[in-house]
Amino acid sequence: MGNKFDAIILGAGAAGLMCAIEAGKRGRRVAVLERADRAGKKILISGGGRCNFTNLHCLPENFHSANPHFAKSALARFEPSDFIALVEKHNIPYHEKSLGQLFCDRRARDILEMLETECRAEGVQMFLNSKIQGIRHADGFTVFTGSGYFHAPALVVATGGLSIPKIGATSLGYDIARQFGLKIREPRPALVPLILGTIDHAQYCDLAGVSAEVEVSTDGVKFREKMLITHRGLSGPAILQISSYWKEHSPIRIDLAPGRDFTMAIREARERNMSSARSALQGILPKRLATRWLDLHVPKTWANPALDKLEGAIHEWVIEPVGTEGYEKAEVTAGGVDTDELSSKTMQSRRVPGLFFIGEVVDVTGQLGGFNFQWAWASGAAAGRVL
Ligand SMILES: Cc1cc2nc3c(=O)[nH]c(=O)nc-3n(C[C@H](O)[C@H](O)[C@H](O)COP(=O)(O)OP(=O)(O)OC[C@H]3O[C@@H](n4cnc5c(N)ncnc54)[C@H](O)[C@@H]3O)c2cc1C
Repeated sequence: MGNKFDAIILGAGAAGLMCAIEAGKRGRRVAVLERADRAGKKILISGGGRCNFTNLHCLPENFHSANPHFAKSALARFEPSDFIALVEKHNIPYHEKSLGQLFCDRRARDILEMLETECRAEGVQMFLNSKIQGIRHADGFTVFTGSGYFHAPALVVATGGLSIPKIGATSLGYDIARQFGLKIREPRPALVPLILGTIDHAQYCDLAGVSAEVEVSTDGVKFREKMLITHRGLSGPAILQISSYWKEHSPIRIDLAPGRDFTMAIREARERNMSSARSALQGILPKRLATRWLDLHVPKTWANPALDKLEGAIHEWVIEPVGTEGYEKAEVTAGGVDTDELSSKTMQSRRVPGLFFIGEVVDVTGQLGGFNFQWAWASGAAAGRVL
């Protein structure tokens, strides 16, 4: 089989499908080569099965990258409202959950079916179960697969990151970048639960399932959201968010009572003792966590200086995680193709004309809350509009 196209897109995920639609709209003959037996598997499992497809308050500050300015151009030219217009055109019911996060009312499959319908309407050809064996670059790009070769003057790499290998993540995107001599920022798991060291584990992990609203910080970055204790460490939105900024062997600070003065109730109590301390803290934290935390932080006296210390400790619980739950549990991969290698307007390689990288394979990572899909749509559209 020999197939000539205007553009070949590797990967039928969020970014690849959006890119295909935009290129198809401009009359380009597009082939999408996908390794799995169906497109968009990650879309299907996203947002707990409801796909948090964008965020109304999407700002460049919601993304991290070695170059924090890189994402601005693509994000400005394909905004959340552009994606919402598509969702509304397809009559997909959705709602705002919190903090601008938009989710499907029914199921994530609505979003995938919408993208597939748009692809079909634009004549995009999809080749599932494609095993990519190699790429040759001479007079355009030739992609060799188990079932034949494909040729086009443009090649778009949209193969995503390394997270969730069991649904088909591969390193192909990074391998292609290396083949063409492009720099890569070391990939690492992000939006991922953290593992506690032996002592913290022994002290807290039997409370698995307990959650509390906290403020976590590391390296000058802060999030105030829910934290969940797990069998191996900590998770929940606050921890997933901070995990993307956490560097190995560095501490994380957790304020267990943000904005609250818990010792005031002890100071005003008829008697200052463990019982008044417990009831004060149980007004702020779940009972089991409050009790445990106090048992591990019994003040030496009940005088004001000791209470000041106790107050300080609740606002600054310092932990040093020993690692993350890795790509098996990570929602995204941080790092990736260095943005210095790419045009921020088109996602095209500066060194290799005709070669594009979009979506998660690029060193742009969104925070939790629909930002990663917004980056996939925006970077996909940026490339699709110039193919
Ligand atoms: C459990 C989970 C839940 C998530 N929920 C959300 C959410 O609600 N909101 C949000 O914004 N983000 C969410 N994310 C993140 C989001 O899914 C990704 O950031 C986004 O899908 C990235 O899009 P992409 O197109 O770059 O990569 P992907 O969507 O991962 O697509 C890459 C495609 O390339 C294919 N591929 C890989 N290797 C090869 C190969 N060798 N040959 C051919 N094809 C290949 C893959 O099979 C896949 O179809 C979630 C992630 C996970 C894991």
